[in-house]
Amino acid sequence: GVPDAIIKEADLSIRDLLLSSIDSKNIETYLRALTEKPHIAGSPEDEDTVNYIKEFWENVGFDDVQTATYDILLSYPDKDNPNMIELLNENDEVIYQTPIEEDVLTPGKNNTEGIPPFNAYSPKGIVTGQLVYVNYGRVEDYIHLDSVGVNVSGCVAIARYGKIFRGSMVDIAQKHGVIGLIIYSDPADYAVPGEGVYPDAWWLPGSGAQRGTIFTGQGDPLTPGYPAISSAYRYEEDKVEPPLPKIPAHPIGYTVAEQLLVNLGGAAVVDKWKGDINITYRYGPGFLDDNWKVRMNISTQRARRNSSNVIGIIKGAVEPDRYVIFGNHRDAWVYGAIDPSSGTATMMETARAMAALVKSGKWRPRRTILFCSWGAEEYGLIGSTEWVEEYIKNLKERTIAYINVDISVEGTHSLRTLSVPLLYRAAYDAAKLVENPNATEIAAGRKTVYDTWLLNRPWKINGEMYGTPEMKAMGSGSDYAPMIQRAGISTVDFGYSYNEHGYNVSGYPLYHSQYETFYAVKNLVDPEFKYHQAVARVSAEMARNLADSLILPLNVSDYAWNMENLRISLDSDYGAYLRGNISNYDDLQMVIKELGAEASRFQEKVKTINKNDPLLTRMVNDQLMLFEKSFLDPAGLPGRHLKKHMIMAESSTDSYSGSSFPGLVDLLFEIDKATDTNARWDQIRQHFSVILFTIQSAASTLRDVT
Ligand code: GLU
Ligand code: CA
Ligand code: ZN
Ligand code: ZN
Repeated sequence: GVPDAIIKEADLSIRDLLLSSIDSKNIETYLRALTEKPHIAGSPEDEDTVNYIKEFWENVGFDDVQTATYDILLSYPDKDNPNMIELLNENDEVIYQTPIEEDVLTPGKNNTEGIPPFNAYSPKGIVTGQLVYVNYGRVEDYIHLDSVGVNVSGCVAIARYGKIFRGSMVDIAQKHGVIGLIIYSDPADYAVPGEGVYPDAWWLPGSGAQRGTIFTGQGDPLTPGYPAISSAYRYEEDKVEPPLPKIPAHPIGYTVAEQLLVNLGGAAVVDKWKGDINITYRYGPGFLDDNWKVRMNISTQRARRNSSNVIGIIKGAVEPDRYVIFGNHRDAWVYGAIDPSSGTATMMETARAMAALVKSGKWRPRRTILFCSWGAEEYGLIGSTEWVEEYIKNLKERTIAYINVDISVEGTHSLRTLSVPLLYRAAYDAAKLVENPNATEIAAGRKTVYDTWLLNRPWKINGEMYGTPEMKAMGSGSDYAPMIQRAGISTVDFGYSYNEHGYNVSGYPLYHSQYETFYAVKNLVDPEFKYHQAVARVSAEMARNLADSLILPLNVSDYAWNMENLRISLDSDYGAYLRGNISNYDDLQMVIKELGAEASRFQEKVKTINKNDPLLTRMVNDQLMLFEKSFLDPAGLPGRHLKKHMIMAESSTDSYSGSSFPGLVDLLFEIDKATDTNARWDQIRQHFSVILFTIQSAASTLRDVT
């Protein structure tokens, strides 16, 4: 007979033990320790956090703890020669110079300990020119400038943060001939009049600046596609693909921006371009006094450094060669109390609670669980990408799913989830099991995290309500991106968030500033750490379910359902265009329909298989685990050969947002301006056939294998 352990269904009493043992007080303790000092990637303080996590992983009693260290290219400001932006008069005299640091505002602190605001990988150099305002720096903003007759070429541009990934802002500026980019946070996007600012409220004070990378690639810039280990070939900095930014960039706050913007000349901007600084916003180019200029003096330098991931392992009892991976980065721009430490503290408590159950002898998961603390995410998802590059052959064949908890609490309004369709149901199920952290909401009948998620973020797709909470598509905002895009691993990212619709803000206001402190979390966000606790519980239950269930809780029908939604939205954006140029365009709908039919037949079969047959369950589970991987194409997307997933990627014009059928969308981008439109349509037809083939291949993996 088959040993009992192999065919045993998960013991659900463990679930309650796990959830109840996750404790907000512990999370608070970890967060305090993690945020004591600034710990930018590659610094000695970062190394201290490596040891802190390593010791923690060892103390909780994991079966094994490993570090994976990579030699990578990072970037830092030059302490002896600070970055600055200056306003020059007709005699080239400096009449205004930006401060180097953000003001010290945190109660109990009297000096800045961290690295001043900078944009990582900015080239060094001095550029001088006319200033021009480019709003959010999106493609459509340059189209608008063109339509009002403003030429940005040869100018220094000033853009406001808030709509797209800053690396994309620099990339787009560079393509328009801009010679340097100043990026500031406008109060319209990061504060609310009359509500106060940090340290009294969570809104951004005037000196707060958003640090961040401007590299649009993923992983170590010098070793694309392969791990940055000792044997690696390293490209020269000016030969890497995707390229490092070519124009200098620098982030500032709104008190500083005001000094530049108030002097800007040119016509007054249209309403949509106005921010909340009390000035007349003008386009430029140039200042009210024609002879004034702006000078950016940037000394940020690139440097090779070591950066480590710390991996803690609970070995699976029955299927040790199947992995559920849990992760978050550890490096922060300064203290990083929200990004990433809210996530790390959450992950640590999940890890502790799971390891304690194992140690007590009450439980060992069916499958292996890995807890990963990534290095150097802030520079471009480097630690996770290098690790995926190093172990791609193992990970692709063995990994069930990846759960990311980066910014775990940026508000208290609702759970926010990014997920691939295979994991929708498991994520909903987990949220239904976790008590609502808000007592008022419980009193109003919303007992679980799920209830408030459904109320506050109902899912509207192509204009229709679906009666389920919203799931967001994944771009490349955090370490889930290499998992899904390189290895085809199904991914989910959890966090508690603020009211997106109630506030007109772009992300939590203190993001990547010096003011992301323990003080801010404790006093302004989650004093009791109840929301952190809820996220820890949701993600822990998700991991437990994936690691323990006899049949994997992945659903392929949801994949087909989602793909049809994506097709409808592609169709409404580009349908007429595509139909006119691709004779078999309607085959897309057909292959998705066939996928849907195959998927529901498969799900029906799963319901009735003989669970006492271990080979049969393993066979079905492998089909489920490998399903996401069937959307990978070894050649990658057109022009982006390291993005292997044909159905989803980050958008090429905004790395934060997810793009569906990304290859098509990229090839259609500005097709009217293409030098050879016919050649472009030929590429589109070729890629379209790859998409059809990919979907058909995916469907074929669900058919009976005998
Ligand atoms: N999370 C980091 C940021 O937002 C890195 C994102 C990326 O490189 O894609 O700046
Ligand atoms: Ca690499
Ligand atoms: Zn982060
Ligand atoms: Zn970040």
